[in-house]
Amino acid sequence: MGILVARTRQELRAMIGSLKSTLEDAGLRSSVGFVPTMGALHEGHATLIKKSSKENSITVVSVFVNPKQFAAHEDLDKYPRTFEADCELCLKAGAQIVFAPTPEAMYPDDFKTKISVDEMSQVMCGAHRPDHFTGVCTVVLLLLNFVAADRAYFGLKDYQQFAIISRMTQDIVHPTRIIGVTTVREEDGLALSSRNRYMDATARAAAACIPKSLRAAAEVFLSGETNAPAVLLAAREVLNSVSEFELQYCELRNAKNLTEVEARITHESVLAVAGFVQNADGVKTRLIDNVILTHDPDRLESLLDFVRLGTAVK
Ligand code: AMP
Repeated sequence: MGILVARTRQELRAMIGSLKSTLEDAGLRSSVGFVPTMGALHEGHATLIKKSSKENSITVVSVFVNPKQFAAHEDLDKYPRTFEADCELCLKAGAQIVFAPTPEAMYPDDFKTKISVDEMSQVMCGAHRPDHFTGVCTVVLLLLNFVAADRAYFGLKDYQQFAIISRMTQDIVHPTRIIGVTTVREEDGLALSSRNRYMDATARAAAACIPKSLRAAAEVFLSGETNAPAVLLAAREVLNSVSEFELQYCELRNAKNLTEVEARITHESVLAVAGFVQNADGVKTRLIDNVILTHDPDRLESLLDFVRLGTAVK
């Protein structure tokens, strides 16, 4: 079977309903997994979709470039759109339905509601993109309600987004379970991102300092250092040594509530970096990445994998 494409909430509900009843008629239990995206899909997205299709009998992927999460000066109009290829990737990765609404189908003319999560949305990326997470929360809650999934999958690359969505669904007792998925990286550690295709060779070379800086900090942390400024310094030294990289922030935050870790690292923490690299023609690309500093056995393995990846390319 090819991929099913729904353009409206009604079409989406009908498709999910019919797949569910086919499964149930065959005596099988059905569960729905959901992967929200903005399209221009790559292996990072494919990993989320594969995880969902392994854990659920039906997987829905949304492809929607959400205008509410872009500021006027940002890249809404030039955000890459590759719908045909996206559908193919979804099918290959095991999804059954792509939900690709128009902005009008998501936000009718009389739409007035904004969903926002206090404090966590104002720090890190939120300090530089003031309405961004309100736009994200508004669209994600709508999508979660449309799909009514058992589980929804979010990449830990966008850690702040994952933490805010987790907080939102917990606060409002939303029935969909939020699952974070380890960041998929290039060979040198650069996190895959739809925006990576904006970069030329000059920018791409500068971008390598991001994973390098996170790895340096992770190594200091894994060696037993619990002093936050010392761990931060390891990352900042790498970032500051590359003059082509324009740092926006490099911060250490509590992984649950995103409060700043200023002294000792006593709980699971996230070291997050954002900044710009520039093409030869002056076009800038904003990149974000992070590493979760943890001793939690469930997450330690991916931290060690990340550090090992660094050893391989040194
Ligand atoms: P986007 O289309 O960029 O909004 O991303 C859709 C989802 O894919 C989000 O949950 C992202 O965190 C996730 N994602 C994007 N890049 C990666 C990556 N390199 N590894 C894992 N997940 C990713």
